[in-house]
This record gives sequence, structure tokens and C-alpha cells, in this order.
Amino acid sequence: MNISFEGKRVLVTGAGQGIGRDLALRLSEYKATVIAISRTKKFLETLRHEDPKIMTLEMDLRDWDASRAAVKRFLPIDMVVNNAGVATLAPFLQLTKEDFDLTMDVNVKAIFNISQIVADDLIKRKCGGSIVNVSSQASQAAIKDHAIYCASKGAVDMLTKTMALELGPHKIRVNSVNPTVVMTAMGKLGWEDPEKARVMLDKIPLGRFAEVDEVIDAIVYLLSDRSSMITGAALPVDGGFLAT
Ligand code: NAP
Repeated sequence: MNISFEGKRVLVTGAGQGIGRDLALRLSEYKATVIAISRTKKFLETLRHEDPKIMTLEMDLRDWDASRAAVKRFLPIDMVVNNAGVATLAPFLQLTKEDFDLTMDVNVKAIFNISQIVADDLIKRKCGGSIVNVSSQASQAAIKDHAIYCASKGAVDMLTKTMALELGPHKIRVNSVNPTVVMTAMGKLGWEDPEKARVMLDKIPLGRFAEVDEVIDAIVYLLSDRSSMITGAALPVDGGFLAT
């Protein structure tokens, strides 16, 4: 794919580490102006050191008002990747209200909040845009010890569809990517134990977990004009896990 995002301003959340970090670097390679939001200062500093063209913003996305104000300062924004996420893994009966609130705040409410600001501006500017939400295979399949995480990603998929429905007439496309396990810090949390990993791997027809770059390729495709007729989709990057 010959991709260029020259002249486009792209906001990436959760860009301090993992998928979001490599995505920010890739989008910058494709000539986008990248605005990278994340929580931990030192990760953003090393990102900026690696690519000084990337603009960084240290922020806790759980703060509703601060997030809105910060995103407004970076407008105009043409594209958003709502990638920030957390996973609290525990048996259903042990999960707490705090676990629920944290997961929903970061995985769902922040998408709602940030996308509202950007979409409102895109509509006023009448220029269209593309939003990609990073969901998970866990949105559509129950996974042990993942009750809140699964529920949050199920909400991401439905939020994606309803945003696609309402924003489509304004030429704003909204899609999700739904990866299987990727061995980032989050992936290691659930799947570093070889016994647990084996149970999951046995359910993936391709017999392996996804690489960060494979998730990024799907996000880039959905952001780009190469997917100009695709909106409201949940694209699995799961080696066939959801097909079984
Ligand atoms: P990761 O390595 O843990 O990175 C998550 C990023 O989100 C970090 O930079 C983190 O900041 C940031 N973040 C978390 N809470 C935040 C908050 N309140 N405010 C601002 N930033 C916040 O995870 P990842 O594996 O790259 O995951 C990226 C996305 O992919 C998530 O939505 C995740 O659910 C999804 N996903 C992951 C997997 C997997 O197996 N890894 C599979 C399917 C889907 P800090 O640097 O401060 O921690």
C-alpha cells in the first residue's frame, strides 16, 4: 500500500507504549502531523526523542474536562485513533467498583469524550474524517477473568457502530480494529504464563498471537482513503479466533 497522510493531523491516544507508540511513529513516517496523548511523562519524552516531529501531551484521559480542553487546543484534527486502554484481570466475583470505573472510563468514556470534540469540529469544517477505535477480540468472545474488559470492548464495538451511523452523513467514517493477544505490557499481563498462552493459542487457527505491526497495518488501512467505503466495521486482527 502506498500511503501518505501528508497534510493530515492525527491524534493517537495511549501513545506512550505498546501499539499506540509504534503507531505514532508509523503515522509520522507516513508524513502525518501526529499528536500523541498518554499518561506517563517519561514514555512521551522518549517518543519525542525518537521522533521530534511528534507533538506529545501528558494527560490522564479519565479527566473528562481536562481531556476536552486539551483536545480543543490541538484542533483542527482530521483523524483519531482511540487506542488507550487498560485491562484489570480477575475473576468476576472479585472485581470491584473501582475496577469497573477505571476500565469503563479509559476504554469507553474517553473514546466518547475525545471523539465528540473532534467530530463536532470536523462537521463544522465540513471536511470529513476517519476515527479508528482499538477494540479487541474480547468484545465478541467471553474470556476467563476478563469480565469488565470484555464488557468495555463490547461497548466500544457498539459505540463504533452508532458513531458510524450518526457521523456517516458528515463523511466521517468510524471503525474498530479487534486484535487478538499482542505481547505488549498489556498482553504480557494476561498471557505471559505459557500454560494460559497455550489455551488461547489453541483457539487461534493461525496458531500465533498478533504482532504490533499487524495491528498497525489494519489501523492505517482504516484511517486511509483505501477504506473509503468502510464504516461501522469491526475488523478482527485475530488469526481467525473469532471465526471459530
Ligand atoms: P499498553 O502497552 O498497556 O499501552 C496502553 C497505553 O494506554 C499506555 O501508553 C498507557 O499509558 C495508555 N493509557 C492507559 N490509561 C490511560 C489514561 N488514563 N490516560 C492516558 N493514557 C492512558 O497496551 P497495548 O497492548 O498497546 O493496548 C493498546 C490497545 O489495544 C488497548 O485499547 C487494548 O485494550 C487493545 N488491545 C490490546 C491487546 C493486547 O493483547 N495487548 C489485545 C487486544 C486489544 P502508560 O504508558 O502511562 O501506561
